[in-house]
Amino acid sequence: ALAADQLVHGFGGPPVLKGVTLAVAAGEVLAVTGPSGSGKSTLLHLLGGLDVPQEGGVWWAGERVDTLDTQARAVRRAGRVGLVFQHHYLLEDLTVLQNVLIPAQLSGRSDPDRARALLARVGLAGREAALPGVLSGGERQRVAVARALSARPAVILADEPTGSLDRANADTVAALLLALAREEGAGVVMVTHDDRLSAQADRTLHLLDGQITENLSLPPALGV
Ligand code: ATP
Ligand code: MG
Repeated sequence: ALAADQLVHGFGGPPVLKGVTLAVAAGEVLAVTGPSGSGKSTLLHLLGGLDVPQEGGVWWAGERVDTLDTQARAVRRAGRVGLVFQHHYLLEDLTVLQNVLIPAQLSGRSDPDRARALLARVGLAGREAALPGVLSGGERQRVAVARALSARPAVILADEPTGSLDRANADTVAALLLALAREEGAGVVMVTHDDRLSAQADRTLHLLDGQITENLSLPPALGV
């Protein structure tokens, strides 16, 4: 669903990412952990094509996208990659339903029935016409989850998707995100500090010193 090869990226100083390679299959859930400042958000921005790597490449559904221009990449992204970030970036002047429809519209697959079904699935049936401003934090994040799935993306990128929520809301949003991704067969790359959330992933990648360490949780003796 998504692949990245030897990503190198920085912001003028020493590189933040020093050669990160990863792949996520359809239906696979990958958690990314690591200390603050280790480059997790930077990595997700590169994977989502919101920024392009200084070296290395990114592929969505088999197509290399880091070499496309910004406009072409935005159109591809709308149809192939769903984004959920810690601070929901819902458009405040659009209704809940219109927000959910954005990626589908951008990718030429607008489907209001699907958008309504997704909103019902995240517990927001009847709130389609509401403006985001009247929703709670948990409700807003559930709108973001529904929107991320709107265009049937191959992969969902989530940067601390539950980081701004209390425990009960965090559990609800995480459960919905993972359940919907599995139902739809979408891969997931999820940055999280929450051990309970990474425990639900198929695989955990640890980012340290600009590089990925896999299966950190495996006792060293078993790794031989
Ligand atoms: P956190 O867990 O706190 O969210 P993170 O692992 O997501 O941290 P990043 O946000 O990717 O870390 O930042 C990695 C490093 O890159 C930091 O030193 C940060 O200051 C720097 N950095 C990130 N984005 C930019 C930018 N746009 N311009 C300059 N430096 C940046
Ligand atoms: Mg971050």
